[in-house]
Amino acid sequence: MISERLKIVKPSPVFEIAAKAVRMIKNGENVLRLDVGEPDTPVADHIKQAMINAVKNNKTRYTPVPGISDLQNAVALKYNNQYSSDEILITPGAKFALYATFQSIINNGDEVIIPSPYWTSYADIVKLSGGVPVFCSIENVPEHVNKKTKAIIINTPNNPSGEVYTENQIAACYKFFDGMVIFDEIYEYFVFEGKHFPLYKDYKNRSIVINGVSKTYAMTGLRIGFLLAPKEIAKAVSSMQSHATSNACSIAQYGALAALTGSQEHVKQMVETFRKRKDFLIPELNKIGLKCKMPKGAFYVLADCGLIDRDDKKATIKILEECKIATVPAADFGASGKIRFSYAQDMEKLRSCTERLKSYIEKAG
Ligand code: PLP
Repeated sequence: MISERLKIVKPSPVFEIAAKAVRMIKNGENVLRLDVGEPDTPVADHIKQAMINAVKNNKTRYTPVPGISDLQNAVALKYNNQYSSDEILITPGAKFALYATFQSIINNGDEVIIPSPYWTSYADIVKLSGGVPVFCSIENVPEHVNKKTKAIIINTPNNPSGEVYTENQIAACYKFFDGMVIFDEIYEYFVFEGKHFPLYKDYKNRSIVINGVSKTYAMTGLRIGFLLAPKEIAKAVSSMQSHATSNACSIAQYGALAALTGSQEHVKQMVETFRKRKDFLIPELNKIGLKCKMPKGAFYVLADCGLIDRDDKKATIKILEECKIATVPAADFGASGKIRFSYAQDMEKLRSCTERLKSYIEKAG
């Protein structure tokens, strides 16, 4: 019954662990959710109010496919008015922007270079479009470019490694490849060390920029993403979107408008809070023996799980069952032998996480 196309993708392991964690919580177990890729902070009041106003003012009808013009303008302003409205598309989440992009530009057999570690969905989204994901380290991108290469994905700051790529690493991708670079900067504000280099500015005609409000404004459930691309591509993606979803949710678009145009103070505060959490969690994990590098950005850390089990999937299950901590196995993120912790959770949870892990590892001895 199921199409051949869909048989090539497997459900994400992230969701398997999450489903098990949810079942345990329903059974009354005190599970710490360090698997989730979303800030724990609530949506800011002025954003909530904008969405309430949208409902009260009946802004509940279809919007133009590329999004309400005020939000397109706010996105244009965010990018220093370097893009016109026909180069900007508002999508139902950054994930859909990526999905629609690949559906729009990939032909069967086209290769897409994905530097490892990578966000697990990239590989499946590429496969669903008929493309072939090619994995390599960011340093080795140039040597993987060939006639079949259609695009390179750059995700900086990176999920799951927390790496912030250097200017040279990003520049090499543009220099040794003359096709499209897809620049996913959904974690752009979460930079603790180093600098975010939005090099697409210098290569506007060869870049597709993916962003959105999910992480920066803690609006994950509201599903608003942005795509900025050369006209021809933005038009194709918009056409794909018109048939797939029509438009992003009207109410959420008004929320995103308030997020972009309102005060950014709460974003700064959130990033500073996350910095403190990171500075607490990473030394503690290293003390316990779950070796990890200090991440420079995003809100994840990849830790070596060999002390618990060399197989990261088995390690996450053990940690979930024995310590009641949900984490993510990183093999499907191109980092086998590692597990991903999200530190977008409060200090109390992070403290109990390290205490539980410490006593488990000591007992397992
Ligand atoms: N890109 C990366 C690297 C992500 O980690 C995520 C979500 O985890 C997304 C895109 C998707 O963002 P959205 O929730 O806006 O679809």
